[in-house]
Amino acid sequence: MMLLRNGVFLSFFSFVLGLIIGSFINVLVYRVPKGESIVYPASHCPECKHSLKWYDLIPLLSYIMLHGKCRYCGHKIPVRYPVIELVTGLAFMGVALKYGWSFNLLKYVVFSGLLITVSFIDIFDGVVPDIVVIPGAAIGLIFAIIQGKTMFLDSLYGLLVMGGFFVLIILVTRGRGMGQGDATLGAMIGAFLGLKFSIAALFISVIIGGIGGVIAILFMRKKRSDTMPFGPFLAIAAYIMLLYGFEFLSFYLSFFNF
Ligand SMILES: [Zn+2]
Repeated sequence: MMLLRNGVFLSFFSFVLGLIIGSFINVLVYRVPKGESIVYPASHCPECKHSLKWYDLIPLLSYIMLHGKCRYCGHKIPVRYPVIELVTGLAFMGVALKYGWSFNLLKYVVFSGLLITVSFIDIFDGVVPDIVVIPGAAIGLIFAIIQGKTMFLDSLYGLLVMGGFFVLIILVTRGRGMGQGDATLGAMIGAFLGLKFSIAALFISVIIGGIGGVIAILFMRKKRSDTMPFGPFLAIAAYIMLLYGFEFLSFYLSFFNF
């Protein structure tokens, strides 16, 4: 019963934390590609420039209560704002339910936030922002250093192998297919997940990227020659490994064990 109550509290706490961080991620997604400061000016409506009050900025709730429109000019608020908040809330809750109150909860909540930021910038602007990903890789290494020598080495190997793999692809394909941002994103994922899990994430990302590509061609009138950002698929795969890494690897290895 105690455990259940703890679980309910932890779920609620992490979901709300995710909504709040998600509304900050919205600021990053909007401003980082434009090279704007993320602290100044304060949030305002891009249409009428009216500065937004605290009650206009409550994650999810403000959007619902305002029926998706600016309070001052009626301009439509892009649906990506509540979507990013909700995705972050759910992602944080997933990490919390998996790891409970632990150092890994902090580590992987930070990692999830970075993945969501990078994915949405890649979706909307077609770039993986190094200004987010390179510090992100360093943060992943620092978390691993705190966790001890074994984790640090695993993190370092993950970073080097994943980054190196994408650099190799870029060299072989002469820059078609993968971009330099995919290499730095791969390195960040390697730093957070370590060698084994990040390689597994790479494997999964190719599969779901392929499925995503087929869906895009069938239902979204994309042509085979259209480029699709690969970053979000890598990010989703990394998140799957975060939650089901051990299950995935033991399932996979069971094929070699009979
Ligand atoms: Zn407005």
